[in-house]
Amino acid sequence: MADAAAKQAAKKNSAEGIRWNLQDLYLGIDDPCIERDLKGCRSECEAFEKQYRGLIKSGSIQPAQLKQALVDLEKILETLSKLGSFVGLLTAVDNLNNEYRKLEDRIDQLGVEIQNRLTFFDLEWLELEDSVAEKLAADPALENYAHYLISSRRYKPYTKSEPEELILNQKSLTARTAWINLFDEFLASLKYDFEYEGEKQTLTQPALLSLVYDADRNKRRAAQECLYAELSSHQLILTNVFNALAQDHGLNDQIRKYGSPMASRHLANEVSPEVVDRMMEVVEANYPIAHRYYKLKSKLLGLEKMATYDQYAPVVTKMPSCEYQEGKKTVLAAFRKFHRTMEDIASRFFDDDWIDAEVRAGKRGGAFSAGTVPSVHPYILLNWTEKLRDVSTMAHELGHGIHQYLSREQSYLNFHHPLTVAETASVFAEFLTFDYVMETETDPEVRLGLICSKVEDAFATVFRQNVLTRFEWSAHTARREAKLSSEQICQFWWDANHALYGESVEMLPMYKWGWSYIPHFIHTPFYCYAYVFGELLVLSLYRMYKEEGESFVPKYLQLLKSGCSEAPEVLLKKVGADITDAEFWQKGLDMLDSLVRQAESLAEQHGGKK
Ligand SMILES: [Zn+2]
Repeated sequence: MADAAAKQAAKKNSAEGIRWNLQDLYLGIDDPCIERDLKGCRSECEAFEKQYRGLIKSGSIQPAQLKQALVDLEKILETLSKLGSFVGLLTAVDNLNNEYRKLEDRIDQLGVEIQNRLTFFDLEWLELEDSVAEKLAADPALENYAHYLISSRRYKPYTKSEPEELILNQKSLTARTAWINLFDEFLASLKYDFEYEGEKQTLTQPALLSLVYDADRNKRRAAQECLYAELSSHQLILTNVFNALAQDHGLNDQIRKYGSPMASRHLANEVSPEVVDRMMEVVEANYPIAHRYYKLKSKLLGLEKMATYDQYAPVVTKMPSCEYQEGKKTVLAAFRKFHRTMEDIASRFFDDDWIDAEVRAGKRGGAFSAGTVPSVHPYILLNWTEKLRDVSTMAHELGHGIHQYLSREQSYLNFHHPLTVAETASVFAEFLTFDYVMETETDPEVRLGLICSKVEDAFATVFRQNVLTRFEWSAHTARREAKLSSEQICQFWWDANHALYGESVEMLPMYKWGWSYIPHFIHTPFYCYAYVFGELLVLSLYRMYKEEGESFVPKYLQLLKSGCSEAPEVLLKKVGADITDAEFWQKGLDMLDSLVRQAESLAEQHGGKK
């Protein structure tokens, strides 16, 4: 007994030894199947080109032939993806291993080679007349691929001729790509001299940003001031990068004839501009929910009025810890309450070693679920740190994992999910777990802590990302007219934020520099609204589940099985969710409202100590 206790004490991490077994992909780095697949991929690709080049363009391809071509194409892509997944997972837990890096390089190169070789196929398909393409896609032989074939043609009106595309592609290396690289490398090189209570430290940006969760208010404020002071001293570079990329975006829109600055993103997301506009308007009409919460949080922190640097301040400082096995038990029980299938699939991740949860040197941080390929199964990476928060991360990644697992019913081209619905199952799983924990947790202080962090996470994805999108909209619209000064960009940022924070949250004057380090603005303009979309979608679906009970379950599981076999709007309609209707988005915000209400009443009962 004493021995066991001593052993337990020596075991720092309750997830020690929880490592994945990748043998379902390959037996190891020396597995001869790796060479076989690398070679096979290349030769199959050559054969594919020989067999199909010119055939689609000629218009003489038969439906059965086209189907065979797609099946062949999927085989090549799936093998390549299996190789890439394997080496990606190896490096994720051992990122200094040279052998893995070498193999990764070879696979990357093969990927580029294959991509170049196969481009003809997409281009020839785009070149077909609409009527011919539609007739082919409607043939019963191609049923499984109809959505893929039609939706891949949505770029046709915006695609230039092959030589023009080539020039655009090549020139982007010294334009867009160069600016992005400059931004990334410049921001990564910044060091922040943080001084607090006479102690000086030089911090990286992630270390500085992590101080927003600190319990000491003065420290949080000092950290925010330090961040913006450093960023504003580089305004020449940051303003120029932002301007150049916004102009590049505008030029592309002009060349390709996209109407609004957001049009190209909507097309990529397979969502109509009206849906996004409506969603954003509904979010803005609900900013008062945020104001109510900010008022509550100010009270809980004992403040007259909170400031932007108080948003993530802990409301409850002594949250309990949680061991890995306990986390597993909680998540499985929460899933079981929803449906046996969810628990059964999640159990396989634990029982068959599809999870790597141990924290160790050389392993990357954070968490993810890698879908790999339909013929294998997903793998999940976690870094278990004994915090209650880890339980919700575990639920999140298992949600992804179950989604990917169920989508294996689809063939490779229908297997991946578009950005806007990619987070559906993960956030839904988090909610199931949150509800379960709330039902079983009895300590009122812990309950309040849990609900506040749930509300704050949801705000960060719904309200904050909406603000970010509004800011981008103003900046890009103005950039189409003329170059923007730092002050102008700061003003757009200020206005978009003020709309949310209003009179409830104080913004330090320096807060106007908040736009200058956000990588999404640089890498993928208008990416952020997908977060709003995804989170609200889940909130609404969850609300539907609450209202409909068990009858919702099979529809939901069917949605997860559907992968991307149809457009998100169509798939969601089958669950009874009409994303074109403002009411649908309001449902999600009502859910947020009820969370805030719960926090308010809990605080009223137990949290008013301060
Ligand atoms: Zn996720």
